[in-house]
Amino acid sequence: MIAVLSRVSVVLFRFALLAVLTGSLAAAQVGGPTTRGALFKGTVVISNVNVVAMTSEKVLRNAAVLIRDGRIERVVPGSRLRAPRGARHIDGAGGYLIPGLGDMHTHLYADGTLPEAVAPAELGVMLANGVTTIRLMGGNPHQLRLRGQVARGEVLGPQLWVSGPYLANKAGDGVRVIASVEDARLAVREVVAAGYDFVKITFGITGATYDALVDEARAARIRVVGHVEPAVGVRRALAAGQQIEHLDAYFEGALSDAAPMQESVTQYGVYRPANWVSLDHIDDKKLTELAVATARAGVWSGPTLEMFNRAFGDPFTDDELKALPDWELIPEKIKAPYMRSRQRYWAQPIPRETRQRYAVIRNTLVKRIHDAGGKILAGSDGPDLLMVYGYGLHRELQALVKAGLTPYQALATATSNVAEFLGGTQDFGTIQPKRRADLVLIKGNPLDDIRNTQNIEGVMIGGRWLAKDELGKMIAAAKVAINPPPAAGNAAGK
Ligand SMILES: [Zn+2]
Repeated sequence: MIAVLSRVSVVLFRFALLAVLTGSLAAAQVGGPTTRGALFKGTVVISNVNVVAMTSEKVLRNAAVLIRDGRIERVVPGSRLRAPRGARHIDGAGGYLIPGLGDMHTHLYADGTLPEAVAPAELGVMLANGVTTIRLMGGNPHQLRLRGQVARGEVLGPQLWVSGPYLANKAGDGVRVIASVEDARLAVREVVAAGYDFVKITFGITGATYDALVDEARAARIRVVGHVEPAVGVRRALAAGQQIEHLDAYFEGALSDAAPMQESVTQYGVYRPANWVSLDHIDDKKLTELAVATARAGVWSGPTLEMFNRAFGDPFTDDELKALPDWELIPEKIKAPYMRSRQRYWAQPIPRETRQRYAVIRNTLVKRIHDAGGKILAGSDGPDLLMVYGYGLHRELQALVKAGLTPYQALATATSNVAEFLGGTQDFGTIQPKRRADLVLIKGNPLDDIRNTQNIEGVMIGGRWLAKDELGKMIAAAKVAINPPPAAGNAAGK
């Protein structure tokens, strides 16, 4: 989402790029860019691991994985693998190896809150959390450059997919305003010409403008993704084949025929106290019907459950929020205004049970879409509303399990599903020969307890191993990049 609670003015400061994040990567790169990420030269064996390949629920116990020049060559059980001479050996110590994680809804502080130079540090936070593929959901030219830099190995980061700028009916940060039907068609052609991967709809796109966007995008063979205005309606978005974020417009679509209102809590509706009464008029049969319709339409759903449930339904307390690892990665200048908006929001006279029901309805919907055969994508929507990408993605997996998915099904939303959605199943998303060596080594079986995905011992990106201490340094560097100590200004430019 765009920061709808408040937008803080941008204060630019000079900042030296951190060597730890970018140092001598280009030299180590071989084979040129793959889909979106560099491959790094060398032979590596990871042994003594339990492989959660995400091709089935079966865990390959006590296995070894051979990686050559950035790709998985073989996965073998037990001690059958004879390591090639000169191979680097990594002892998995009985841990679990999962595919690198995908976050299908992210933004960057470098999109406007902080200078562009901070972006590599932000990508480092994602990598340190095991996130090896991302979709940026509010595009700008800087992100396109970043996508190329990551693909060429000039910046170490997850593979980037980049949506176009926010298409909306009103001006704002990062917004391409759509002024007319003709303008909608022009905007799609601009998005395609600039090289973005998706057309991203945000606020106020309705009626003929919506139809024109969808039509032009279909002709240009680019997918339309993002928000759905209640005035468009979820059924029309499903018919259009739009990839729907945040479960937008489902509440309105599920209101009973007898409901005295047509508005509910999608988009800006969530900030209007009067709209919350509508939760008493949700027709459970219609919820199921919409879930089935979503599956039938083959539309991918990115529910961003954790972000929205926490922001609007079932919040963290202030103390819980400040105890999250995210807290130290939030720019100091935005903390106070965001905390004030939080207070204003929760001071609204809406019963706590009503707020909580919002989260329950969203969870129910996700479970029913999944059960109907619909496709779910994990997305954190960080770093908005004081919740940061990386950490947020792990919490999204937990939220999906809370909604009723099994840990395996939840993990699929961030691995195999991501590859399928991005057309990359031959390249990433599972642990199989020929796939990129984008891997996360964790302690504990994630299929027993999804929270184990947070116990990261090491991350591999395109065959390059980042051990736990290196990941710690990346986080530490990001803290400095996001909130530079006063002295850092003097050191810049060296
Ligand atoms: Zn967003």
